[in-house]
Amino acid sequence: MKRRLWLCALALLLAGCAGEEGVIDRGGYKVDTRRQAQAAYPRVKVLVIHYTADDFDTSLATLTDKHVSSHYLIPATPPLEGGKPLIWQLVPERELAWHAGASFWRGASRINDTSIGIELENRGWIKVNGAKQFVPFNPPQIAVLTDLARDIIARYDIKPQNVVAHADIAPQRKDDPGPLFPWQQLAAQGVGAWPEASRVAFYLNGRDPYSPVDTALLLDALERYGYPVTPDMTPAQQKRVIQAFQMHFRPALWSGVADAQSLAIAEALLEKYGQG
Ligand SMILES: [Zn+2]
Repeated sequence: MKRRLWLCALALLLAGCAGEEGVIDRGGYKVDTRRQAQAAYPRVKVLVIHYTADDFDTSLATLTDKHVSSHYLIPATPPLEGGKPLIWQLVPERELAWHAGASFWRGASRINDTSIGIELENRGWIKVNGAKQFVPFNPPQIAVLTDLARDIIARYDIKPQNVVAHADIAPQRKDDPGPLFPWQQLAAQGVGAWPEASRVAFYLNGRDPYSPVDTALLLDALERYGYPVTPDMTPAQQKRVIQAFQMHFRPALWSGVADAQSLAIAEALLEKYGQG
């Protein structure tokens, strides 16, 4: 890190580090940067939201150890530094972090390669009477996450449909950030996708929201939207995909059962954001 900063300072003296325009002297050689390609794209296309399922100190230790990492870690209650919430950046945005694992979204796998990962300190879920009970997020944590996410989205021009839960891109392995994560509230502030209520009502077309629909029909819509759906999935695996979708877009009931409202939401999302 120190060496990189020093090189940047040197480059700044010689040619200007920020834009890197013109012919730049890098010591032993020079680079001509006056012709810039049009077919150039930022590495980052996806923003992945996680919870750590652990306390802050354990999370920080795990995320700075050798096996997993994420770009940012936000404490459950961010401490104030000079009146502003303090969050942790563990990996520079231009570098790759190991937060997504085996993953797939909208036609692409290896989402680590193309994403920024944000971990939220949150205990995840505990089992109560055999059912998963999730731990709510603190409003100050969500407030600073919103600020951070908006910055990242603006920096890389990330599309709303590419702001995802870890569970969206790895539904067979992951639940995070779970059904208590306020996706609708974030979407209202420019972070992530959310369907228009009127279009959901249009596609629901007067049916009981929880009336069952053909599972294959819903899975087809989810696959078109971008979820990892394969023809060889077992019923249990199909249920995991539907649950991930419901936790994100219909958190009132994430039973994994295909119903009319889930299908209407998927159709409204496809109409608004297109196929993945
Ligand atoms: Zn995760």
